[in-house]
Amino acid sequence: MEFKVIELEREPIEFDLELPPGSVDFGDEAEQEGNLATSGRAEVIHEHRGPKDIVADIRLRGRYAGRFRVPCARCVESVDLPLGADFDLIFRPIGADAGPSERSITAPETEIGYYQKDSLLLEAVLREQVLLSLPVRTLCKPDCKGLCPRCGQNRNSQACSCEEGSNDPRWEALAGLRGRIKS
Ligand SMILES: [Zn+2]
Ligand SMILES: [Zn+2]
Repeated sequence: MEFKVIELEREPIEFDLELPPGSVDFGDEAEQEGNLATSGRAEVIHEHRGPKDIVADIRLRGRYAGRFRVPCARCVESVDLPLGADFDLIFRPIGADAGPSERSITAPETEIGYYQKDSLLLEAVLREQVLLSLPVRTLCKPDCKGLCPRCGQNRNSQACSCEEGSNDPRWEALAGLRGRIKS
């Protein structure tokens, strides 16, 4: 859904959508499961910077909720992740803040972004919001055993024979330490 400044100038636009998977490109970082629900309102806010210097900002307020699958940071298995959040964002025309004296309004409750070519794409905003909300590290379970660094076996489902660790330097160091503690 595209919000055109010229249309928003006439009146704010309310939206309430169910976006099927594929509407927003999340890349490899997250896979959308089922519809992504989003609703809210877009409007133009005129920023009066001077008598003849008026900037048309787009304010986008709303929320989204959806289910996603992201790879576990240790074993790469898909993890179900429900994500949802409210947003309140301001978009300025790109280039509006260019120049030596960068002026900016202070809007503590909002974040500033930029729009190009007189319009803003809701899908691009949602993409950024969802990706920003992803945890830094997702684990399928807190004690995920991960993949064996040697044979690649997922150690949650099956132990592999490498686990004896006879040749693993980390195990040898540990065995040496144990020996010293005992003596
Ligand atoms: Zn895992
Ligand atoms: Zn192994």
